[in-house]
Amino acid sequence: MNLLNVTTSLQTEEQCLDALERRRWPKGIRCPQCGGDKLSRITRTVDLTKTRKEKKQNKRTRLYACLESTCNYRFTPTVGTLFQDSHLPLAKWFAAIALIVDTKKGMSAKQMQRHLGVSYKAAWFMGHRIRKAMAEGAFPKMSGIVEVDETYVGGKQKGKGVYYGKKQKAVVIGLRERGGDVRLVHTRDAKAKSVQDVIASHVGPEVQSVMTDEFPIYPVILRNLGQIEKHQAVEHKRGSYVRGIAHTNSIESAFSLFKRAIVGSFHKVSHKHLHRYLSEFEYRFNGRKEPDLFGQTVARMVGTGNLEYKELIAE
Ligand SMILES: [Zn+2]
Repeated sequence: MNLLNVTTSLQTEEQCLDALERRRWPKGIRCPQCGGDKLSRITRTVDLTKTRKEKKQNKRTRLYACLESTCNYRFTPTVGTLFQDSHLPLAKWFAAIALIVDTKKGMSAKQMQRHLGVSYKAAWFMGHRIRKAMAEGAFPKMSGIVEVDETYVGGKQKGKGVYYGKKQKAVVIGLRERGGDVRLVHTRDAKAKSVQDVIASHVGPEVQSVMTDEFPIYPVILRNLGQIEKHQAVEHKRGSYVRGIAHTNSIESAFSLFKRAIVGSFHKVSHKHLHRYLSEFEYRFNGRKEPDLFGQTVARMVGTGNLEYKELIAE
């Protein structure tokens, strides 16, 4: 589904709840407490004695009761999902997901606020909850030909180098499997220890080769990891950027796409939140061939208990 499909077919709360239920319970609705499938649907009658505000708070009208005598749990389709405690209509949520999934460069809270007609605060929270869902999950280790490079994001100084204090740039280590996924990891610095940790956790032992630039830490790291015979350094200085298959063009193009997003949409991303934007970028980039990235993202939002709202606000 693309943005246009989402905004035309998911307009009412009923339509959105139907779509959410199909994603959450593809084999039919189950009680989240006991797993039972004997349920009754409760239709709330509108209490005319209530104030407008009370009615609004009570607008989640779809409610199920579990008929298992030992359970009797009552639940809404959004309970235990990332939508649970939100008072925003689901149509706004689905439009927000479609916006974030569809845009190449990413979407700032300010742009979401404008597109969706919600407050800045609501747009900001929606964005971060969606990014949180994108960041969850296990990532397989990379094999094949893997390019590794480092880059510097933000800060006021031009060029490379880490400057301390307010002007400090953030270090991002990028890995890309040729023809495959990208991983972007925000690290404290670009020292051997930090880079080695990133490579160790993302590159598998069966990797075919690791392409890097001539930065002298790489041979040290790959020797430490027992992969030195797979290392190929690109000789940037001699003006020969591409020597056979030894190049880091793929990761460099991912970096430049990410940097354009930072400049174009987010202007200034704080170090604290950078990892979320990196996750969002990775998710979209790695999902570029996924035919239904929107549906996949909704499925993550309604996923499991490890995406609880409490956990989000506690961060
Ligand atoms: Zn039950």
